[in-house]
Amino acid sequence: MKLQLLLPLFIAIIALSQQINLLSPSFMKPLSEFNASLKISFREKADVVVIGGGPAGSCAAIAAALEGVKVILIERFDFLGGAGTAMGVSLFMGQEVVGGLYDKIRERLKELGGIKGNAYDPDAMKAVLYDMCREQGVRILFDSLAMGVVKESTSLKAILIHNPYFGLGMVEGKIFIDATGNGDVAVAAGAPYEISPDERIMPLTLCYVLWWQNGWPPLWRNYGAVWRMDPYRVFANQTRIPTNPIDPFKLTEAEGEGRRETLEQVEELLGKGYNVRLISSGPHIGIRESRRIIGDYVLTGEDVLSGKMFDDRIALCNYPIDIHYQQKSKDLQAVTGRFEKVPIYSIPYRCLLPKKINNLLVAGRCISATQEAMASFRIQPTSMAIGTAAGIAGALSAKLNISPRQVDARSIQAELRKLGQILDKPREEQKN
Ligand SMILES: Cc1cc2nc3c(=O)[nH]c(=O)nc-3n(C[C@H](O)[C@H](O)[C@H](O)COP(=O)(O)OP(=O)(O)OC[C@H]3O[C@@H](n4cnc5c(N)ncnc54)[C@H](O)[C@@H]3O)c2cc1C
Repeated sequence: MKLQLLLPLFIAIIALSQQINLLSPSFMKPLSEFNASLKISFREKADVVVIGGGPAGSCAAIAAALEGVKVILIERFDFLGGAGTAMGVSLFMGQEVVGGLYDKIRERLKELGGIKGNAYDPDAMKAVLYDMCREQGVRILFDSLAMGVVKESTSLKAILIHNPYFGLGMVEGKIFIDATGNGDVAVAAGAPYEISPDERIMPLTLCYVLWWQNGWPPLWRNYGAVWRMDPYRVFANQTRIPTNPIDPFKLTEAEGEGRRETLEQVEELLGKGYNVRLISSGPHIGIRESRRIIGDYVLTGEDVLSGKMFDDRIALCNYPIDIHYQQKSKDLQAVTGRFEKVPIYSIPYRCLLPKKINNLLVAGRCISATQEAMASFRIQPTSMAIGTAAGIAGALSAKLNISPRQVDARSIQAELRKLGQILDKPREEQKN
């Protein structure tokens, strides 16, 4: 009888101590100080663990799996695509010198009727990336937020994730690829990073979709900021919220402000008598810029503007330096940023290798670069190309049991070429 009374109390104490562990400030410390008393509900293991299923992470996972290693892809949302789907940016830019998996993704979108010009249907993109990952045997973990790392000396051992349905999970791996956009994993692992001063960080944008027939709505910004792929919907990248996206309260305020601005813009159209309806927004606010993880090489604006071709190049790009300024303007023609053309340039493998960590690669917009350089290669097709290279590099290191730093860039290039990724300037450009 006594035991029966004590049992619930005992269970409550265990539950409470688990909760205290979760909320304890010590939990937020670097993962080297990870508290082993946390209750881990599920454990998984892979050769290559990719964190973040945006354009970079999805391609990293597919490319690594194509190399024949076991891959787990961890994504906090319940679909892939990153900014392209979760942030409503369903438009490719800077696609001329990419090839490889980007071309294959385009083909698959076409098969589904999900692309027109460079505008794509976000739901088609979710399906294509999911199918391509699954076809190669990538194990996807949705609804899983990477919240820390387990580290031993200069190597990562595991990623700690929180899944709202199953609790805490641990994914062990040989090689890790941070494709979170913000470089969350690299920072938790202790890699150095840079971020622009608050007043120079590119503004955030909550994208939205309007039901709008015929032509284009007279919105605030016109250049590249509205697109459509069917006669009924217009996708709009129009709101502009300057803030620091790695401050949790500022990010929360930006989400609220983005929704207020969205409604204001729709109200304005309705007030002018247009037949318009708001179909959806977001889901998440779009982050153009946040941390840049410092790696073995920092790509600069000078490299970009001079069209530098590195021996260890893993991707090419020719998208302009596109820095959005924070000022808002209702004048459609107003200059709201720097938009400067660039020649074809290359991104070296060394930008994917964060300092201080042995078995980690970064991919996508958070690789090692200055703001100027990042403002050019941050686009989705190039992020896919960088991700593909990271996936191949991760798989080669896992197979050879060496650090990504020891992988010969030429072997990555050989695999990239097999996939059709463009690594050389077209002949006419080489003469210049
Ligand atoms: C408003 C806006 C407009 C843009 N316009 C264009 C355009 O017209 N054309 C174009 O090509 N590009 C455009 N871009 C740029 C482009 O969309 C991004 O730079 C690109 O998507 C970066 O890819 P990524 O994979 O590095 O990061 P992201 O696309 O941000 O993907 C990161 C992924 O990681 C996941 N993630 C993050 N943290 C965690 C975590 N801790 N645990 C688990 N998962 C996590 C996220 O949910 C996401 O799926 C725009 C961007 C913005 C914000």
